Amino acid sequence: MASEPEPEGPAIDQSLLECSAEETAGKWLQSTDLTREVYQHLAHYVPKIYCRGPNPFPQREDMLAQLVLLGPMEWYICGEDPAFGFPKLEQANKPSHLCGRVFKVGEPTYSCRDCAVDPTCVLCMECFLGSIHRDHRYRMTTSGGGGFCDCGDTEAWKEGPYCEKHKLNTSEIEEEEDPLIHLPEDVITRTYNIFAIMFHYAVEILTWEKESELPADLEMVEKPDTYYCMLFNDEVHTYEQVIYTLQKAVNCTQKEAIGFATTVDRDGRRSVRYGDFPYCEQAKSVIVRNTSRQTKPLKVQVMHSSIVAHQNFGLKLLSWLGSIIGYSDGLRRILCQVGLQEGPDGENSSLVDRLMLSDSKLWKGARSVYHQLFMSSLLMDLKYKKLFAVRFAKNYERLQSDYVTDDHDREYSIADLSVQIFTVPSLARMLITEENLLTIIIKTFMDHLRHRDAQGRFQFERYTALQAFKFRRVQSLILDLKYVLISKPTEWSDDLRQKFLEGFDAFLELLKCMQGMDPVTRQVGQHIEMEPEWEAAFTLQMKLTHVISMMQDWCALDEKVLIEAYKKCLAVLMQCHGGFTDGEQPVTLSICGHSVETIRYCVSQKKVSIHLPVTRLLAGLHVLLSKSEVAYKFPELLPLSELSPPMLIEYPLRCLVLCAQVHAGMWRRNGFSLVNQIYYYHNVKCRREMFDKDIIMLQTGVSMMDPNHFLMIMLSRFELYQIFSTPDYGKRLSSETTHKDVVQQNNTLIEEMLYLIIMLVGERFSPGVGQVNATDEIKREIIHQLSIKPMAHSELVKSLPEDENKETGMESVIEAVAHFKKPGLTGRGMYELKPECAKEFNLYFYHFSRAEQSKAEEAQRKLKRQNREDTALPPPILPPFCPLFASLVNILQSDVMLYIIRTILHWAVEHNGCAWSEAMLQRVLHLIGMALQEEKQHLENVMEEHVVTFTFAQKISKPGEAPNNSSSILAMLETLQNAPYLEVHKDMIRWILKTFNAIKKMRESSSTSSVAETEGTITEESSRDKDKAERKRKAEIARLRREKVMAQMSEMQRNFIDENKDLFQQTVAEEASNSAVLDNSPMVSDTTLTALGPAQTQVPKQRQFVTCILCQEEQEVKVESKAMVLAAFVQRSTVLSKNRNKVIQDPEKYDPLFMHPDLSCGTHTGSCGHVMHAHCWQRYFDSVQAKEQRRQQRLRLHTSYDVENGEFLCPLCECLSNTVIPLLLPPRNIFNNRLNFSDQPNLTQWIRTISQQTKALQILRKEERIPNIASSKNSENMDELQLPEGFRPDFHPKNPYSDSIKEMLTTFGTATYKVGLKVHPNEEDPRVPIMCWGSCAYTIQSIERILSDEDKPLFGPLPCRLDDCLRSLTRFAAAHWTVALLSVVQGHFCKLFASLVPNDNYGDLPCILDIDMFHLLVGLVLAFPALQCQDFSGISLGTGDLHIFHLVTMAHIIQILLTSCTEENEMDQETPAGEEELAVLALYKTLRQHTGSALKEIPSGWHLWRRVRTGIMPFLKCSALFFHYLNGVPSPPEIQVSGTSHFEHLCNYLSLPNNLICLFQENSEITKLLIESWCQHNEVKRYLEGERDAISYPRESNKLIDLPEDYSSLINQASNFSCPKSGGDKSRAPTLCLVCGTLLCSQSYCCQTELEGEDVGACTAHTYSCGSGVGIFLRVRECQVLFLAGKTKGCFYSPPYLDDYGETDQGLRRGNPLHLCKERFKKIQKLWHQHSITEEIGHAQEANQTLVGIDWQHL
Ligand SMILES: [Zn+2]
Ligand SMILES: [Zn+2]
Ligand SMILES: [Zn+2]
Ligand SMILES: [Zn+2]
Ligand SMILES: [Zn+2]
Ligand SMILES: [Zn+2]
Ligand SMILES: [Zn+2]
Repeated sequence: MASEPEPEGPAIDQSLLECSAEETAGKWLQSTDLTREVYQHLAHYVPKIYCRGPNPFPQREDMLAQLVLLGPMEWYICGEDPAFGFPKLEQANKPSHLCGRVFKVGEPTYSCRDCAVDPTCVLCMECFLGSIHRDHRYRMTTSGGGGFCDCGDTEAWKEGPYCEKHKLNTSEIEEEEDPLIHLPEDVITRTYNIFAIMFHYAVEILTWEKESELPADLEMVEKPDTYYCMLFNDEVHTYEQVIYTLQKAVNCTQKEAIGFATTVDRDGRRSVRYGDFPYCEQAKSVIVRNTSRQTKPLKVQVMHSSIVAHQNFGLKLLSWLGSIIGYSDGLRRILCQVGLQEGPDGENSSLVDRLMLSDSKLWKGARSVYHQLFMSSLLMDLKYKKLFAVRFAKNYERLQSDYVTDDHDREYSIADLSVQIFTVPSLARMLITEENLLTIIIKTFMDHLRHRDAQGRFQFERYTALQAFKFRRVQSLILDLKYVLISKPTEWSDDLRQKFLEGFDAFLELLKCMQGMDPVTRQVGQHIEMEPEWEAAFTLQMKLTHVISMMQDWCALDEKVLIEAYKKCLAVLMQCHGGFTDGEQPVTLSICGHSVETIRYCVSQKKVSIHLPVTRLLAGLHVLLSKSEVAYKFPELLPLSELSPPMLIEYPLRCLVLCAQVHAGMWRRNGFSLVNQIYYYHNVKCRREMFDKDIIMLQTGVSMMDPNHFLMIMLSRFELYQIFSTPDYGKRLSSETTHKDVVQQNNTLIEEMLYLIIMLVGERFSPGVGQVNATDEIKREIIHQLSIKPMAHSELVKSLPEDENKETGMESVIEAVAHFKKPGLTGRGMYELKPECAKEFNLYFYHFSRAEQSKAEEAQRKLKRQNREDTALPPPILPPFCPLFASLVNILQSDVMLYIIRTILHWAVEHNGCAWSEAMLQRVLHLIGMALQEEKQHLENVMEEHVVTFTFAQKISKPGEAPNNSSSILAMLETLQNAPYLEVHKDMIRWILKTFNAIKKMRESSSTSSVAETEGTITEESSRDKDKAERKRKAEIARLRREKVMAQMSEMQRNFIDENKDLFQQTVAEEASNSAVLDNSPMVSDTTLTALGPAQTQVPKQRQFVTCILCQEEQEVKVESKAMVLAAFVQRSTVLSKNRNKVIQDPEKYDPLFMHPDLSCGTHTGSCGHVMHAHCWQRYFDSVQAKEQRRQQRLRLHTSYDVENGEFLCPLCECLSNTVIPLLLPPRNIFNNRLNFSDQPNLTQWIRTISQQTKALQILRKEERIPNIASSKNSENMDELQLPEGFRPDFHPKNPYSDSIKEMLTTFGTATYKVGLKVHPNEEDPRVPIMCWGSCAYTIQSIERILSDEDKPLFGPLPCRLDDCLRSLTRFAAAHWTVALLSVVQGHFCKLFASLVPNDNYGDLPCILDIDMFHLLVGLVLAFPALQCQDFSGISLGTGDLHIFHLVTMAHIIQILLTSCTEENEMDQETPAGEEELAVLALYKTLRQHTGSALKEIPSGWHLWRRVRTGIMPFLKCSALFFHYLNGVPSPPEIQVSGTSHFEHLCNYLSLPNNLICLFQENSEITKLLIESWCQHNEVKRYLEGERDAISYPRESNKLIDLPEDYSSLINQASNFSCPKSGGDKSRAPTLCLVCGTLLCSQSYCCQTELEGEDVGACTAHTYSCGSGVGIFLRVRECQVLFLAGKTKGCFYSPPYLDDYGETDQGLRRGNPLHLCKERFKKIQKLWHQHSITEEIGHAQEANQTLVGIDWQHL
């Protein structure tokens, strides 16, 4: 709070100021007992400086501490003035090459995905920008505080460890050079002395636990009776609770309580009361009592003030030490020595140990201060980092236990330093070998999970809240394990092997506790009563996934370790399986003459668990063995012989059967917890170490046993053995009319089993299973993901497993398999699968979910149809298995397999009487396809002389034995090919037969032996068949295409009508009315078009017909008919504002008559252009209102619109609206037809007449206002009053409009007034007409700006809704006077007129510099009829319009000339001056005369003319729009196209001379007077004298602020931003206003303010001053655009920053570098310019109801 002065505290003790640091240091130098001397000094002074009252005075305390306490120490260290001493040390220092910058909260950090050893290695922004990594694939995140920059740490980076800045120092650095050699001996000794004393002091006082007693050597002589009631932070109580309690306990205001709570939250403690002991004790007891109800009470201590004083100084001291060691690495080394030196109590007694061990007892503020000191000292010194690491490891168990029981977040715990230590590869390795770190971490972890079941497995079932809390915290240990393992050893010492294997043992113990945990039993009969707890076990599994993978990675690096680990794992698995076959009678299974013994076990009846980490680890190790050299060179070295394949497969098989049964609906009564477990089992986060490994384990088992045996066991576990061993099962089922569910269940189980076989044979893309590498694996994953649909980068990343470095490996292969399609203005960049990759598609890819599988199938078939191929999706060609798995393929040609295939085909052939499914058949066909592919591969790759033993083709052409006398598989396929009920599978069967023939041919050509004769017929038959099928297929395709086209066409038609509904309604009507079409009509285009004045082009009357969107009735727009209205939205606007600081202070008294040229607060009207009957709308709105009231009572929900404020949604397009505008014919025509004028006055005469009229009116009004004045005076006035000729002020014209139209005129007028001024509606208020004119003028100006900014022609094709809106708005504004009081409108006219034509009756009118001329023009023109209607002298309305326009134009020219004189140093134009230039120069001279030469002399008329021309353009354009809509004169065709400035055309259209200065020359008589009066104004004089500013012309368009190209510079900017209210604290949600660039502290208590009696956040408060309630913000931490409107409306909008993949990153979760997308930013700016922000919010809230519930006002 630097800006605010500190409150007065107790007076400063004069003796303190007189202290001399030099003297004190001198005394210390002489002293024999330095410790005592220093302690006495501290004991005396510290309490005098710190904690002298209820409030802290940090600045004063710091100042005094430096003077009295720290100064002497600095003198002492240097032995001279530290101002000279320290720079000397700094100079002599050889600085470290480490950066070590400690990160602030929210600061951006960078990691290089190519070079960082692990993702925790980060750089600060400065280092990053100077490093080679800025051109690499980097990742950007924001720091959560803590942690430091790793620049210069060679262990952290594979390449480029130094940035440019830190590289400079490296050349001179000798490794292991002692930094002390750069320090003088005496400095070393003194530093050592003082560091030892001070560090000791700080540790002692910070860890001091007594509340009112000091350490003996610090005890004071006279101890005052002052105490603090100290409140400590905890993570249990909420802000609100604390605030509420404090208000009660210490009787403070809410604001003070918020202040206390904020400080407690930030610093960890804060004194809330100061005084004597009982006073403080009383507060304490209230707080404790109030907070102890549900939870443990808040921690409060009553502490003696001197203890608090010393502790505060202790903290100060630690930061001081941190800054002092910054001068020299030698000083740092000394501090490290002091810190780590063992104390008198031996083990764990060094200062560092003592601090660490009391970490959990310290408050937040103290912790972060000493953690920072550790980071800048111990962690920055390579030698002591090692020693510190050892201390940390030795204390590891204690520290973690403290952390687990503590309640502070991990970032406030010393335990969090593990990431700094364990991720350093050399330290991690050292700690593993010397401190047995792996084992320690795992054991510590296990110690905290004591809850086990009878078998010693973890049990989370009945966890208490406390245990659950502990479990959450203890998970961070897994993270530590990950850090230690993250960098893999390149060399193995025997020590490392031994200690790693020891750790591996401990790890196996851990996994053993998980093996079989959370078992489930199928619930039959009743549904389970309570969903069992399952999440804890899965959390554990998920957290351990990477660790398990990394353990395997380590093993893979050393064969010895691998084999040992394998043996250990196997041994543990044996233990787990102890009692595997106990007590069970084995059963014998036999099919096709094969038989096998197995145990009796039914998944559906016994316990089964999804957690098998030991088995799965063994599977992982087995694959690694398979990859190793030993596997095929010395297999005898492997412990394979100890394996019992049936035992290996048993548990994974049960787990997979469980999944199948759940899918078959057999476990429905077990509830959602099981469904969730199965989901995660397959999910990308877990599957690598769950599902995938189970498949591998089964593959391992099959490859080691007789496949027939395997299949029989499998049938038995699937509980399908009976079905397949019973002949005629299918028939029996259907005849018995068994329970339909059972048939369905069995079908699904058969399908699942076949799917499993397909996976076992087909999934060979794990390196070690198949002969592939990691790239092939990832490629295959991506191909299958993209087979479903094209995907964005982030979507793809989410579907792939990440490794411990958060890498998926996707980048390296994506180019090979996909094309990238860039995003448009919306949407994201997409990857599309390359067509050539489609052949690798496997329909039964094992990572597909069921939904994905069917989507992929559909997509791939569609693709094939598009390419006019057949729609078969045959299995892809697979890579060969590794030798260890090679025998697995035989399962395909095993007898039992063939038997199963034959059985199912048989069912399909006899389809009617059997229970079978198409899915079953499809899988069988796939399996046959796989077998044929396999055989073909074998034949193609066969070596000389080798015989291919895979003879599937031969086997399927033989007839089988069972089912009884069945035909061969081949024959059955041929039969099925013609089956009408299998249309979909025909292509696949055809493909199989084709492949079969190809194999036949290959066999024939390789061996001469000829094969069966049947072959000929097959081919013949199939080719004939093929023709037929082909024809049919093509016909089908043609039909489908036809249908699709038809559907598309009708859809398009419908859309077109929908989108252009209004167009249809209106254009059709206009055509029908048979009147002249506005534009391009030959009748008007040959003459020059004139928009106004007596010479205005006469437009034939048009009839306009419109249709009501509500009742669909058509009606003509007429003066006397029922009103038709447009839905409209009126809002206040600052979009054009040139002065954002201006706000309307008191709206009730505000006079809006004159708009200031800074346009600071305008009223904008927009419309969607949808027409309704006024009465239809009224009915609709009433029903909305009624509905809303009912709804609010019922639901208390908000809607996206505020009915109470008159808001509603357009019934057709749901556009937010808050009023309606009536549709009108050009109103001037109604009055103009009255008389036919000829002789019209010129400007001078006209001004004279009008002046007389206005004066007359003023006198009359005065009389009316003061009727009681003496009649004599009255008559006097009457004498004075000479009514101008033909002026009849008593005449009141009849209102021509129907009642309904009049009502709507009032309605819209009142709405504009209410919204524009933010006042209560009052239709009588004299300001209503002004607001209507103002809104008309402002809306036209804003549209003119948009058109100019986009370089669009003024009268080009405007969107319908804009055109309709402007037309109705202008005509409405022109007609509004008819419903207002005539005298009021006349009064406005008089005053407006007087601002240009001087009139003594008005004293305080603004000068012409302070009037927006277009607003003035609109006001004058639209108010004029009120005067003119009483004028019967023969002056036409058009004449008045023209003269008003000329008059205002002249004033504007003078305005431009006056305000353009500030520019300097312009080049002279050499060309001879033209007519305009001479004229303007002359005018300028006149102007100089009138201003007393205060205007600068400008010799060149060219410049002046150019300025006038460019300055006046916006005004002319606005005027052209205005008169066009007012009078309905079509625009000249020239202005309808874009091109160069249409100055001349505009002048012609507006009835102006091309040489504008002529206006002055033609009316020189009056001009002089006018110019003189304008220049006389005091404000003009002040401006010319340089005392004030004025707006100059043309006004530039407002833009949103410039955003940096690189998003990280925004993050950096925001991280330096601190909350403006809470003294230098970093803001948690820094938010940037995109309109004015202000950074705000959003979404936080500290910056809430009161607005209209409600608390609102900084953003909402800002919108009121910056955007009249509308705001556009960028939430910097989230990278999210925020739109706000009013207090209740808001939405998030996609940010204009994209990564290289064309995606935004809302929430900055991915961390890819983000760059500004200019187009998207322009789109946001356009929304702003178009006043569409509120509408956008409305649409967003309608689309997403959750947005409605957000408390936008607190942002
Ligand atoms: Zn750095
Ligand atoms: Zn650096
Ligand atoms: Zn790099
Ligand atoms: Zn209607
Ligand atoms: Zn609409
Ligand atoms: Zn704040
Ligand atoms: Zn702003």
